[in-house]
Amino acid sequence: MKYSILADVYERLEKEPSKLKKTEILSELLSQTPTELLPKVVLLASGHIFPSYSELKTGIASKMMIKAIAKATGLHKKEIVQKFKELGDLGLVAEECIKEKKQVALFKKQLTVELVFEDLQKLATLTGAESQQRKLDLIAELLVSANPKEARYIVRTVLETLRIGVAEGIVRDAIAKAFFADIVWEKKRVKRILEKAKNKIIVVEKGLLKKFGIEKTENKISEKSLSQIEKMELWKPKSNVDYVLLMDNKVGSELKNNIISTIENAWFRHPDYGEIARIAKEKGEKALKKVKIQLGKPIMVMLGEKAPSLEDALKKFDRCILEYKYDGARTNIHKDGEKIWLYTRRLENVTNQFPDLVKLAKNGIKVDQCIIEGETIGMDPKTGEPIPFQKLSKRIQRKYDVAKMVKKIPIRIYLFDILYLNGKSLTDKPLKERRRLLEKSIKEIPGKFELTKSLITKDLEEAQKFYKEALKAKQEGLMIKNLDAPYQSGRRVGYMLKVKPTMESLDLAIIGAEWGTGKRAKWLGSYVLACRDPDTGKYLSCGMMGTGLTDEQFQQMTDRLKPLIIREKGRSVEVKPEIIVEVEYEEIQKSPHYDSGYALRFPRMKTIREEKPEPDDINRLKRLFESQFKKMNV
Ligand code: ATP
Repeated sequence: MKYSILADVYERLEKEPSKLKKTEILSELLSQTPTELLPKVVLLASGHIFPSYSELKTGIASKMMIKAIAKATGLHKKEIVQKFKELGDLGLVAEECIKEKKQVALFKKQLTVELVFEDLQKLATLTGAESQQRKLDLIAELLVSANPKEARYIVRTVLETLRIGVAEGIVRDAIAKAFFADIVWEKKRVKRILEKAKNKIIVVEKGLLKKFGIEKTENKISEKSLSQIEKMELWKPKSNVDYVLLMDNKVGSELKNNIISTIENAWFRHPDYGEIARIAKEKGEKALKKVKIQLGKPIMVMLGEKAPSLEDALKKFDRCILEYKYDGARTNIHKDGEKIWLYTRRLENVTNQFPDLVKLAKNGIKVDQCIIEGETIGMDPKTGEPIPFQKLSKRIQRKYDVAKMVKKIPIRIYLFDILYLNGKSLTDKPLKERRRLLEKSIKEIPGKFELTKSLITKDLEEAQKFYKEALKAKQEGLMIKNLDAPYQSGRRVGYMLKVKPTMESLDLAIIGAEWGTGKRAKWLGSYVLACRDPDTGKYLSCGMMGTGLTDEQFQQMTDRLKPLIIREKGRSVEVKPEIIVEVEYEEIQKSPHYDSGYALRFPRMKTIREEKPEPDDINRLKRLFESQFKKMNV
């Protein structure tokens, strides 16, 4: 398959704003792709070279890419840097440079998807002294052989910033559209399909042709009753049906949702849409339903839902277990004999970053094979108190000096679930049974490798007492879990509820911002938030906010901030503190990085407080910080 086919599709996807149309474009590509190439094409189309859980990364930053573009085009590095400043995207820079190319010194080859994919994967496997140079040569070779458009996307793929607006949801829907009959009930589309799709095999609900006044001339159209349709196999090669046209949306959306959620659930258990696409095409719906979690491969974890109060949460389930909600990093431990893997909730493999946890797992797990789940929390080595997640996240990010980090930020884990045991998936078993098996499968190591603190009760008073204990122990709150529920990976299905003190919102001034990159280069994003010192009148920074705004709001905010710029340095700007925003956040933490001494965790914009001339003062921030520990919102 020529790489130019993929580049054309990338371009169409990039230009197309509608999700529905993007899905159509991608599904066309998937239907044309030979089965053996599907995993590669799906990965590439979603901007990856490896499944998200893979430890392999290309390891190429902008600096090296600039060198590679220079090598491939004969242009001077300075010229390329200048263009980068103007365009804000090295993909576009490469495209322009290839157009202006001065010399073709290297060997030119025909670019196919297979070849580009293989070369890109090679980037991640090159190691040793010469590896940087060899990586550079490899990219330059690809760029020499590429036309301008291909160059744009090769560069972006290598830098892992494809920016064509294809996320998991679109890939999922495109797989459904490519390999399953399309189910349609909207009148307009039904008519269009009947008029235009001449060579397609169409099943229509009995009565539909009459309703639309269409003669049954086309021998590829067959009429079936609703109950027949509901029993039909909708997987394309098997059923040969391209479209199922229905009169009412209820059955239609149900059938469609079933297919979509079968694909999605398979992906939750095995998060690699390349593989899922191959299974969908080759084996259909039944095989997708049988996709099981696998030892060594991460899964999308089950998520919680917020409960309005402890009382509400208790009423939700017939039988429930209450557990401390620890503020740490969700961790999945996979064990196969002597081998241990650690994954985060974002599917990152963090085994190398946590040798201490690997050791604990080896000592604490009694069974040969399992996947167990827990919350890893960081501890202050001096006080022995839990530290906020932000600090622990340094250990997740740090890939070198690991031994130092192990000492600086010691950890402990609280275990709460088991999903796999000695060759068998346990996800269909109720939590009660899973918890029993978890308890049997591990040996607690006090203060290091423990089960979550838990209480089985339906009694409100007892639960409130337990909640207070959790907050007193400086934990976040409680998780309330349905003891009779299975483990539904990837979803907020309401099998576990969280109760934690809610925080009041803050009104803060924007005192700085940063110009974005790529598509966002025109916008000022990442706003520096500040409260005010009532004594000095000074604005004291307390966090950076980059979420909660729509594209339109980013544009408006940029327009309003531009005239307020006082100073500019690199991509950062300082602005007059005239815009006050209402900000929601998860938590306030102490932080030496900000002038106020506090940092908001996950701030997001709620509204602009047009009427307010000044932000909240530092004393309110202090009070809210203290109240996090005192508040017993029960
Ligand atoms: P939050 O920011 O409140 O943690 P979230 O959106 O990150 O919310 P939720 O699924 O809503 O995640 O809440 C559950 C999270 O709480 C889990 O992902 C896990 O990391 C953490 N957690 C802490 N203690 C427990 C526990 N005992 N059982 C399950 N999850 C726990």
